[in-house]
Amino acid sequence: MSTKPHVGIIGAGFSGLRCADILVQSGARVTILEARDRIGGRVHQEVVGSHLVDLGPNWIHGTGENPIISIADATQTVAHDPEGRNISISRDGHLLGEDVVTKAEEFMWTTIGQAFEYSKQHGDTIPPERSLYDFFQEKLEQSDFSEEEKHLCLDSCKLWGAYVGDPIERQSLKFFCLEECIDGDNFFVASTYKRILEYVSRNVLSQADIRFKQAIVSIDAPPRNDAQSRHQITVATVTGERYSFDKVVVTCPLGWLKQNAEAFSPVLPIRLLEAIHSISYGRLEKVYVTFPRAFWHTPSINTNGQHAGSTSGSNPVKNPVFAQFLNPSYAEHPENIEWNQECISLAAMPTPYNHPTLLFYTYGPCSTHIVEQIASLDPHSSEYRKVLVGFFEPFYSRLPGYDITSPDCIPTAVMATRWQKDSYAGNGSYCNFQVGLTRADEDIEVLRSGAGVGSERGLWFAGEHTAPFEALGTTTGAYLSGERAAVQVCESLGLRISLYGVGD
Ligand SMILES: Cc1cc2nc3c(=O)[nH]c(=O)nc-3n(C[C@H](O)[C@H](O)[C@H](O)COP(=O)(O)OP(=O)(O)OC[C@H]3O[C@@H](n4cnc5c(N)ncnc54)[C@H](O)[C@@H]3O)c2cc1C
Repeated sequence: MSTKPHVGIIGAGFSGLRCADILVQSGARVTILEARDRIGGRVHQEVVGSHLVDLGPNWIHGTGENPIISIADATQTVAHDPEGRNISISRDGHLLGEDVVTKAEEFMWTTIGQAFEYSKQHGDTIPPERSLYDFFQEKLEQSDFSEEEKHLCLDSCKLWGAYVGDPIERQSLKFFCLEECIDGDNFFVASTYKRILEYVSRNVLSQADIRFKQAIVSIDAPPRNDAQSRHQITVATVTGERYSFDKVVVTCPLGWLKQNAEAFSPVLPIRLLEAIHSISYGRLEKVYVTFPRAFWHTPSINTNGQHAGSTSGSNPVKNPVFAQFLNPSYAEHPENIEWNQECISLAAMPTPYNHPTLLFYTYGPCSTHIVEQIASLDPHSSEYRKVLVGFFEPFYSRLPGYDITSPDCIPTAVMATRWQKDSYAGNGSYCNFQVGLTRADEDIEVLRSGAGVGSERGLWFAGEHTAPFEALGTTTGAYLSGERAAVQVCESLGLRISLYGVGD
């Protein structure tokens, strides 16, 4: 029998994998219990058409001190700063002029920067009900824009909802600073997160015991009675298997904790429960639509005067990278729900990772609507395709180059994520901060500390919702939270911490 302390980690996402890695290197015996039949959690890829794509994250937020950037470098992952023209389609379905699009974009980014600052400086006095939307509106009122420009700008700003997974009307201004990421640019991971995941899991797969299809339904962590007797935490799976550990790290998503708080016995401290229930959980979903050819790209002219293939190379002026579709009057939808969409052209990625695919980011009630439409459909069925093509055709048909009679404009593959139907993803995407919150920063600190259940019961928490403030809701944050939880466990076990970095 091993005399090493035995640590159980629930979940094999980035937080669980990083936590396991450090614990193993620090001398613990580690067992990971994972509900799915794979590692990665919300970091996951699938093939759409013939292209590998990310279903969860595909951005790395911030090039500052960011371990995920270092891993991307170490694994020759191609992370790309997509530059080029952004286009915007008006409410009535017309391509907006470049000047007004640039103006709206500049306004949005300037105001976002101001909102971060304002929230940092005045967080204490900003009323909890004040939203990011209110802030945009006030700034527009103070501007010298025409009424038409103001409307366009506000419509455009609403697409910030795709960053947080919910409409900006419910985004707290008071805690908007918690959405700010690590400094530096944001990179799109053109070659997918696959190699990053392989790197994060490489030691764990060989040195920890990973058990798949082990959905945990109860965690019995009694308080320690005295320092002498052996203290054990028992967890049980949905199929009745039981495991006992010296310490347990729970990395289940915040959405899972909200729905399964009663899985813990004895009941979690009230302050921890308050924190779990107060922070909101977003609804970001992705939809990939692949075409035979990137019809929205203008064929570029080779030096010999011939038309080049439209998906190779990109002309930043002619070939749009991002397209915004402001709340459309041309697509039927409930009056009170914003139906706006944003997509990125994967044809604008560097070769060989470019392909004629549009990736739509859909969020809030609209994303819930889409997920509900396809929830019970087989992704290979014609009905599934019909629903998604029917939904997105009014949008992509507004892009330049669309020709209803051209086979190039008929999707060859379409796929939508359904994180909201995935209980192991917490039925959503990642944490966000809604209006009404009064102490979200403290809530996050409580989630990180576990309100004392670590030292009292040997129970620790990790996951993107427990990340450092500048990395909440991201892969970086998940990774760093796993690191932090591992340090907490090592300290409680008296283990010498082996906190090695990327490339060590
Ligand atoms: C659509 C979408 C887009 C995103 N975009 C980005 C982006 O561009 N950039 C970025 O940085 N981040 C992005 N994120 C967020 C990022 O994916 C997460 O922050 C990160 O992957 C979370 O890692 P984690 O370890 O905290 O949780 P997870 O990856 O969710 O890991 C938790 C693990 O626990 C398992 N589990 C859950 N319940 C149980 C149970 N009862 N028993 C056993 N196991 C269980 C799950 O199966 C999972 O494997 C996105 C997320 C989504 C959904």
